[in-house]
Amino acid sequence: MKKQDYLISMLTGLKSKVLFDEPMSRHTSFRIGGPAEAMVFPDDEGDLSRIISLTHAEKIPLFVSGKGTNLLVGDRGIRGVVISLSSGLAGDCFSRITKIKEYGSEVYIYAGAGVSLTRLLKYTLQNGLTGLEFASGIPGSVGGAVVMNAGSYGKEIKDILYSVRIADRMGHLSDIPAKEITFRYRAASIPGLAVTGAVLRLQKGDRGKIETRMKENLLRKKGSQPLSKPSAGSIFKNPDWTKAWKLIDSAGMRGTTIGGATVSTLHANFIINNGNATAGDVISLIRRIGKKVERETGVTLELEVRIVGT
Ligand SMILES: Cc1cc2nc3c(=O)[nH]c(=O)nc-3n(C[C@H](O)[C@H](O)[C@H](O)COP(=O)(O)OP(=O)(O)OC[C@H]3O[C@@H](n4cnc5c(N)ncnc54)[C@H](O)[C@@H]3O)c2cc1C
Repeated sequence: MKKQDYLISMLTGLKSKVLFDEPMSRHTSFRIGGPAEAMVFPDDEGDLSRIISLTHAEKIPLFVSGKGTNLLVGDRGIRGVVISLSSGLAGDCFSRITKIKEYGSEVYIYAGAGVSLTRLLKYTLQNGLTGLEFASGIPGSVGGAVVMNAGSYGKEIKDILYSVRIADRMGHLSDIPAKEITFRYRAASIPGLAVTGAVLRLQKGDRGKIETRMKENLLRKKGSQPLSKPSAGSIFKNPDWTKAWKLIDSAGMRGTTIGGATVSTLHANFIINNGNATAGDVISLIRRIGKKVERETGVTLELEVRIVGT
């Protein structure tokens, strides 16, 4: 039996929506990426557990995607199963926002992994909750923000995270206190395969001040990032003593183009897709930037964007 026939027979018994040979360019902010052999949008946590345990038992590769805003997917695509909790095709439990409890000035909010940060920001503003304003303008999902420890302007998701709901490699679900997870700059040691949701600890605040801070952060991003073109945000992590864009700039790489991919003239740590870029173009450009920066400044840049597939 061909691998895909096997995947079809394994996955069609589920309640979840499944797409075969689904182009990942439709699911990444870069608008780049070949097909996922099977892309599954779990209907609920039970189905998610079943998919994880089935793929584990059959040794089928599994990748969990968020909103695809930090991903570069290879031109030949992704073998095996891609799970997405961040699309409207996934079940409601992954897009739920619920108030759990209040404790003095603290308010605890549960957000499903598929909730976009934009929607969560709106919720916090409407309910006068402060703490998440730093995320204004970060385009990912709650799941992706936890895994990447997304941050901006000196704050990170770890600063407001209380607990994370995860499914492990066998599909078992549990809630892990955030203090048991090690967070680093744009990384987290999540002890599982999929984040299904998270509890955030926010504070009661003044709606006017919250709105002002959100607008200020968004405006700063709009002024400094090439938001009209597809990208995956910052390509490289900032070294602790300087910004990656400064090193790329001083190596003279701003505006460099390979195929359909260009180093943004607005923000030198962004690569933009001019419309016809392949993953191959972007990877060649990443290599060229890395070599030139190393030669000119002696610094080896580390990737922030995650490269998946082949
Ligand atoms: C224009 C632009 C601006 C950006 N600005 C910022 C910024 O200021 N700060 C910042 O930190 N980032 C920024 N980013 C990068 C990106 O938005 C963040 O890294 C975001 O947290 C990624 O979330 P996502 O849902 O898109 O995850 P994806 O890109 O889909 O995935 C990222 C990683 O998380 C994993 N993952 C995602 N969801 C889950 C889940 N539910 N369970 C398990 N693993 C999961 C994936 O396997 C992958 O390894 C920017 C990106 C763009 C395009």
